[in-house]
Amino acid sequence: MKPPSPPIRKIIWVNVIFFAITTFVALIGAPTYIYKYGLSFFDITLFVFFMIATGLSVTAGYHRLFAHTTYQTNPIIRFLFLFFGAAAFEQPVLDWASQHRDHHQYVDTDEDPYNINKGFFYAHMGWLMFWEHDVDHSNVKDLQKDPMVMHQSKYYMLWAAGSGIILPVLIGAFAGHALAAFIFAVCLRLTLVYHATFFINSICHMFGKSTYDIHQTARDHWFIAFLTYGEGYHNFHHAFPNDYRNGVRWYQYDPCKWLIASMNYIGMARGLKRASRFRILEKRLAAENQRTNELLESLIKDPRLANALSVFQTHYQKVKNSLLAWEETAKEYKRILRKHVSLNNFNLRSKAFKEMKSTRSLFQRKYQKWNRLTNKDPILLTQFLLSKAA
Ligand SMILES: [Zn+2]
Ligand SMILES: [Zn+2]
Repeated sequence: MKPPSPPIRKIIWVNVIFFAITTFVALIGAPTYIYKYGLSFFDITLFVFFMIATGLSVTAGYHRLFAHTTYQTNPIIRFLFLFFGAAAFEQPVLDWASQHRDHHQYVDTDEDPYNINKGFFYAHMGWLMFWEHDVDHSNVKDLQKDPMVMHQSKYYMLWAAGSGIILPVLIGAFAGHALAAFIFAVCLRLTLVYHATFFINSICHMFGKSTYDIHQTARDHWFIAFLTYGEGYHNFHHAFPNDYRNGVRWYQYDPCKWLIASMNYIGMARGLKRASRFRILEKRLAAENQRTNELLESLIKDPRLANALSVFQTHYQKVKNSLLAWEETAKEYKRILRKHVSLNNFNLRSKAFKEMKSTRSLFQRKYQKWNRLTNKDPILLTQFLLSKAA
């Protein structure tokens, strides 16, 4: 672990100008071009290809492969992620991963490069323009061993300009659409991929659900997940950063998870890291329990509720008891697992798991009633309790 270093404050003019030009061309150039010339199928295909290739290289590549090493893959895929990742103009992966690891380790403090406590805009993109942090590569020694990563870092501008500007414009020029390629596949695409990525650090640290950890700013936001190939389940991600999934439930929209799982299926990815479903469930229930406790504490302080609290507390105790029962079963399950894992006793393991699930659903049935109650607006809840006391 590195000691926190004093922040360096400077304005990165290159980034300010780059953001200004790409945004201007995207906002003014794109509609003007469509108005004057329309859009061909080729222009749209090139734009969509670069949107997906560069976006996925940041999310499944820069983030889940390089920054968190949640899985392993072959050098060809690593190269493709480095190549199209550079095209997103979000710094070399070495710097990106180093800052991102700092973000997880020091989240919401001064050592967090995109600390949300410095405001929405700072966490969104201000941190790239009004630089107030230090990039220290001591937390990316594993990545420094990869010659391809080091080459991308050393000759970053060549990689980024080659893959992000020259390649799309050249492809466009072959079809006689160089200008359209520059406006759509370069500038508009960059602007959209930028803000989608930045939303994770701004919106997902301010708005959404705290499903797994109520004491941190990271939130699960389904709409941002939709814009970022699944990265919006950010509360889960901060609770389990080494899991290759961000949208952990099967129905949650997480194309990165599906891509990695598919690569694994055809032998192109291996060593996929998953948090155990029991740890995930434990965390979820602990979060609900904390939420309930905190709400109860705030209500206890309300003098108008002196008479109503007994109703509230009886209900609370019921929920708490079933949580405790569930925790006991979880412990028992862990004991059985530990004992039989070496014997690989499938019957015992599946019996323990079934037991675990039935206790859990019992808890959830009780919990759901409680959840409906506690999810109410605190003022409505107070009124509800007052009506009970009347
Ligand atoms: Zn975060
Ligand atoms: Zn992360």
